[in-house]
Amino acid sequence: MQNFPVFRTKIPGKDKVFDLSDPKQAEGYFQYKAGNEIAKLKKYFEENTFIAYLMGKKNAGKGTYTKQFTSLFGTDKVAHISVGDVVRGVDEEMADPSKKEALIDYLKKNYRGFFSLEEIIKSQEDRGTGKPLLPTEYILALLKREIEKSGHKTLFIDGLPRTLDQVSYSLFFRELIGYRDDPDMFVLIQIAESIIDERLKYRVVCPKCHTPRNYKLLVTSRIGYDKEQKKFYLKCDNPGCGGERMVTKEGDELGIETIRDRLVSDGELIDQAFSLYGVPKILLRNDVPVAEAKEKVDGYELTPEFVLSLENEKVAVSTKSWIVKNDEGIDSYSLMPQAVVVSMIKQIVEALEL
Ligand SMILES: [Zn+2]
Repeated sequence: MQNFPVFRTKIPGKDKVFDLSDPKQAEGYFQYKAGNEIAKLKKYFEENTFIAYLMGKKNAGKGTYTKQFTSLFGTDKVAHISVGDVVRGVDEEMADPSKKEALIDYLKKNYRGFFSLEEIIKSQEDRGTGKPLLPTEYILALLKREIEKSGHKTLFIDGLPRTLDQVSYSLFFRELIGYRDDPDMFVLIQIAESIIDERLKYRVVCPKCHTPRNYKLLVTSRIGYDKEQKKFYLKCDNPGCGGERMVTKEGDELGIETIRDRLVSDGELIDQAFSLYGVPKILLRNDVPVAEAKEKVDGYELTPEFVLSLENEKVAVSTKSWIVKNDEGIDSYSLMPQAVVVSMIKQIVEALEL
């Protein structure tokens, strides 16, 4: 895979420091680093929209970046459409006879493809049993319906294209959904596999509200110590949740080994999109070589590693630099998501010529 340039988020003379793990401070950070661009985009969104196709390896942070972007501009202006979520939503509709009927009715009017509607319904029901991916023509009809439901908004589409042959479909997708004159662009994410690996290996989730955290990279404000197991554990600190003990999902401890094939095909797809002509490309890079970091980014924009220890029976938390090898074997840091979002905002403003 071709390396993307490291985006410079460091601004000469702007040396205020932010704690990006604090949502209030993160808000101030966005204004400090990209206030002008945010204002331009807000004005743009008053009358206009665009379509962005998000492409990155599994667990690259697509959902996180979109969530932060959306909360800056509002869910009335920006929608995140995940193909995976849409397809899972159909599973639920299938279980309800009246919803199933409405779905089939929509497909009768809007689906056109190589398989009969009966075959399509069957493959939706057999999904996840090792069967091949659902036909693209069916996915397109489902997406069209989802977008009609959400109204005319700026779209971040996650999961199309998913295969090489779907790249061409995405080039004409805006016509299909009636967004004829709206600009579209590809948002490509580069991330080192070692970063995905550690995100998975140390990941824990709340059994109640499903909030994901990480022992090493994103701890909660409440940490306990299990004397019997001699292990630290995180307690959910999501407001409104009951402080549940977060747990490891089975298989996560194996890291990227279980998703190796997927990472390879995702990488090929990004390469393909990178070589496209005629469509703007927003290049987001998560890893920053240590040698380039000082010049291009601020220290607080780098993801720290949390170190947990026990002092007088109390849990103590400290941080240190988290350094991993990138895919070329070069010592690198991983950017905090907010810094990646700042680079995204600035590149989008440029692509739209605002
Ligand atoms: Zn929770």
